[in-house]
Amino acid sequence: MKKSIHCVLALLLTFTPWLAQAALNVVTSTEDIAALTLAIGGDAVKVKPLTRGTADPHFAQAKPSMIREVYQADLLVVVGAELEVGWMPALLQSARNDKVQPGNPGYLDLSTAVTLLDKPSGAVTRDMGDVHAAGNPHYWLDPNNGVLMARGIAQRLAQLDSAHAKDFERALASFEQQAQVKIATWKTALAPLAGKAVMSYHTSFVYLANAFGFRIAAQVEPKPGISPSAAYLTQLIARIKEQQIGVLIMEPYYEQRSAKYLSEHTGVRVAVLPQSVGATEQIKTYFDLFDAIVAALKNTGAV
Ligand SMILES: [Zn+2]
Repeated sequence: MKKSIHCVLALLLTFTPWLAQAALNVVTSTEDIAALTLAIGGDAVKVKPLTRGTADPHFAQAKPSMIREVYQADLLVVVGAELEVGWMPALLQSARNDKVQPGNPGYLDLSTAVTLLDKPSGAVTRDMGDVHAAGNPHYWLDPNNGVLMARGIAQRLAQLDSAHAKDFERALASFEQQAQVKIATWKTALAPLAGKAVMSYHTSFVYLANAFGFRIAAQVEPKPGISPSAAYLTQLIARIKEQQIGVLIMEPYYEQRSAKYLSEHTGVRVAVLPQSVGATEQIKTYFDLFDAIVAALKNTGAV
């Protein structure tokens, strides 16, 4: 009897290192976070994004497949700052996985890793449109924030899988090094935009503007999440002329009629920019995203 217990113990000890090496199941709200997690986690993680980069991340439907992913997750990583407020709470409730509930180590809100812009000074009311009390949630569009996000991910992965902590550290160092080189290249490419007034469709590009030194002078949406009326477009035509706005940047998932109309009446160049990893098939990594943004701005003659 004693002998067999020893045998079982010996077996367990033999297999424990193998058990510790089982890949962590990481579920992310967006493909951007999935790409960052894969860059840091490598073979030690299995990553599944809940939404596609081709879709508007403000909206998603909690499908049964998503509930299953969250149920099986060891770690759930979200953009936070209320970006997923329309669908994540219901999903978390249906998935019934304690590990990934807010407040537990299996839940990581990356908005806590960065400094959010556009924090409303007063109370937030519904008639302000899609305005978030915590600040603007589109922060992944500043590559400097991408570095902070990668750090947050590396830290949490190390906490959940200490056996691979050194690997995560190494991957993070290499990511940061690459980011430095890349950011310098993108800055050079976008230098012609520095100091310029640019219009955006939604409030999503303030971080990109901040990173590369241009200014979002106006938005096509009168309020975030609200599309413009004909009367409002007429006002915008005047503003584009007054402020000499040369470029209008927007995500592929918004209606393009308003932008076309503004362009016809003012000559403003419309640049449809990918906003996320996965927005096109070619954009597979976080660095690919900014390469594609720069390419899109070049193609429209904005830089
Ligand atoms: Zn938004």
